[in-house]
Order: sequence, then structure tokens, then C-alpha cells
Amino acid sequence: MQAWKEYQEKNKDRFLQELIELLRIPSVSANSDHKEDMKKCAEAVKQRLMEAGAEKAEVMSTDGHPVVYAEKIIDPSKPTVLVYGHYDVQPPDPLNLWHSGPFEPVIKDGKLYARGSADDKGQFYMHVKALEILTQTKSLTTNIKFLIEGEEEVGSPNLEKFVAAHKDLLKCDVILISDSAMISMENPSMDIGVRGLSYIQVEVTGPNRDLHSGVYGGAVGNPITILAKMIASCHDENHHITIPGFYNDVVVATPEERKLMAQAPYDEKEYKQDLGVQELWGEKGYTTNERTGIRPTLELNGIWGGYTGEGAKTVLPSKAYAKISARLVPNQSSVKITEMLLEHFRKIAPASVTVNAIELHGGEPYMTPIDSKAYKAAAKAIETTFGKQPIPVRGGGSIPISSILERELGVKIVFMGFGLDSDNLHSPNEKFDLVNFYKGIETIPYFHQYFAV
Ligand SMILES: [Zn+2]
Repeated sequence: MQAWKEYQEKNKDRFLQELIELLRIPSVSANSDHKEDMKKCAEAVKQRLMEAGAEKAEVMSTDGHPVVYAEKIIDPSKPTVLVYGHYDVQPPDPLNLWHSGPFEPVIKDGKLYARGSADDKGQFYMHVKALEILTQTKSLTTNIKFLIEGEEEVGSPNLEKFVAAHKDLLKCDVILISDSAMISMENPSMDIGVRGLSYIQVEVTGPNRDLHSGVYGGAVGNPITILAKMIASCHDENHHITIPGFYNDVVVATPEERKLMAQAPYDEKEYKQDLGVQELWGEKGYTTNERTGIRPTLELNGIWGGYTGEGAKTVLPSKAYAKISARLVPNQSSVKITEMLLEHFRKIAPASVTVNAIELHGGEPYMTPIDSKAYKAAAKAIETTFGKQPIPVRGGGSIPISSILERELGVKIVFMGFGLDSDNLHSPNEKFDLVNFYKGIETIPYFHQYFAV
């Protein structure tokens, strides 16, 4: 619609400035030092939603960081869209790898660099600006609700309770989430599923204190060596996961689905070059897209123990730790796999050490149907502004709240992500391309228009 485009064009610099202001707030949910920043960020989001045209916006408390809720109800008989997003961000470490401060947004070559630029402040903010455009041009045809939480990056520990307690408030016909990526601007795509997650921490204890590695080394089991061995044993030579029963519930993708996936453009040379690796690593018999989409994986996220300071210290440590996570696919259960992982590490430990394995967080995998009215409206919206139908793809990441939202609210989710895989989510130098930001703002109003028909 011409009026939308004109309004956006006239206000695009301000849209960007507002996002930059939001990115300056270090809303790191994982770190308790940032508790006040979290509150400040929630207030800022609320404020922006009011300015954009919401008739009600509230910062609502939970047992953790607050949730921001907002709504604009034009007519209760019209369909209601609930936009879910998160204002919290991942910790910015390691800081020395950032080219500029993670909370001092910088624009370079048409890209906005800052922690949270793509995940997820830049993406949920497109919806805030779409609300403004629809309000200002008096063309809103749906009711819009916003649920912007502050604990997504730590596994949404309090959202389930919040949603269950506010089912009426959050009542809607579809949940729209922009917290994922497209293949590219030339090849727009939509996630039709996200993987689940099981995340555990393993603590291995050997001797009751750190020992002199000269006096005791060779006679006492070293927890770091043992933990490294235990972890290495979880994959075989084909990079298949060896934990008994791990693949039992995996839904095997049909040849048709694999064929469809294979249509997504993929250049292995470019992929490797981008990552700076000579060779790829992955489960035998599957392509890269399949390995990150339809297959479950097991990754080591962190490992520490012993002496890690400057110089040498000859110690045989008492303890070693690892953080380990598995990405899950339909119909694996996060609860079941977490229990399986914990049991596995307890079981394979040799008698020279003791193991304390605990769950950190988890979430179920999720799939959305591509024949729903909402999916079709989103696909048509993308086709309208990108000039191309989006390719349906299975996302490799996890949005653990997906299955909870569907269960509690009884509606389907549509993933309309405008980021790119190269956005460095969770890594140093996270960025969001300005073209993507503006294209997202341009596309979202069409979703509301098509969904209301
Ligand atoms: Zn996110």
C-alpha cells in the first residue's frame, strides 16, 4: 500500500534511531548485574509501544525479569494477532572480539552492529513500527497484542506460568514470531519448525583437593582427561551420537521433504569460507541443511577446570566441568532426552571420579503447518514485498517457548524471521542489515491485511 511506504520513507531515520536507543541498554538476562537494565529496557519497550499506537501497555512482573504486554483492540470480532518477542540479549563476551562496543551501536556498510540488533530487539521492533504505520495510516484490520519477554536467552523459566495465568489477556488467533533468519534477501524463506533443546551441566570430581601434578600425577585420575574422554565418546567415527536410545523418537524426514530442502540454495565453498574452516564436520549421510534442520545434534558449549590463568601451574585438578546441549527434532521429548543425558554421564564415568550432572534448561521441538491461513498470509506478505515466494525451511535453532505458547493458548505459531544466518547471533559483532530491518517493517502490515481477510 502506497500510504504505508510513504509513511515509512518519511520516518525511517527516526525508526532506526529509536532502535539504536533500545540497543544501548545492556539487557543481559543471564547476568544479575544487569537487573536494573532489564527493568529500564522493559520500561523503554512499553513506552515505545504506547507511542506506536498501543492503547494499553504494561510492564508486568514475573518471578524473574518482567514481561511487557501491550494491545490495540480495534474490534473484538476481528482476528487477533499476538506478536511474541524478547527484549533480553545474550551476554556479549568475549568482549575483545567485538570491533565496536556491543552496547554502542555502530552502522557500517549498511549493517547495524550491536548485541541484540537481530536477536531480537531489531526484529520485534519491526512489529512495533508496523503497528505505528498501520495506526497512523488508519489501516489496521486486526487486533494486535504484544508479548515481549525478558528471559528468552535463559530459557524462559517464568513464561509458562505467566501465560497460563493470563490466558484471557493473551487470547489470540495466531502467534507471530520474528526471531529467526531467512536464507537471503534474494531467497526469502520461512521457518516451519524449530529444534528443541536439552541443556545439562556435568561436574566431574576426582581427588578431594587440587594436587601437585608431579607428586600425584600418573597415580590419580585427572577429572579433565576423564571428562574429555567421556564427551568424546558421545560421537562415533561417523559423527553419529552414541548415547543409547538417543534417536529412538526421531521422525525420519520423508524423501519428499528432503527433496524440498535440497532446493534451498547452498554453496559449500562459500559456507566454509565464511566460517574459516577447511572441512565441514557432521553426521554421515546427511547434507549440511539436513544436519542443522532435521537431525538432532549434541554440542559441547563450554569446558573448564584446573588452572586457566597466565603462565604454568602444575596442578592435577580436583574438578572439571562441562556444559553440554542437544538440539532436538520432532518427536523427541526434551524431558526424556535431558534425563537420558544425565543418566548417560553418570553411567559412563569410571570409578576414579564422581559425577554430578544437572539440568540447566530445555524446550520441545516445534513444527507449524504450511496450509494454515496464517502461514499463507505470511507467505503472501513476503511474496508481495520480496517478489518471490518464501521457501519453507526447518530452522536449526530453538524457541523453547513455541510449544508452550501453542499448548497454553491453543493456536499455531508463524515464524516470520527477517534476520540472516550471518548475523552473528550469540557471537561477537552481532549485526542486523538495515535493508532487512526496513523490509521487515514493510512486509508485516501486509500480513495483518491478508490475515484479516
Ligand atoms: Zn532470540
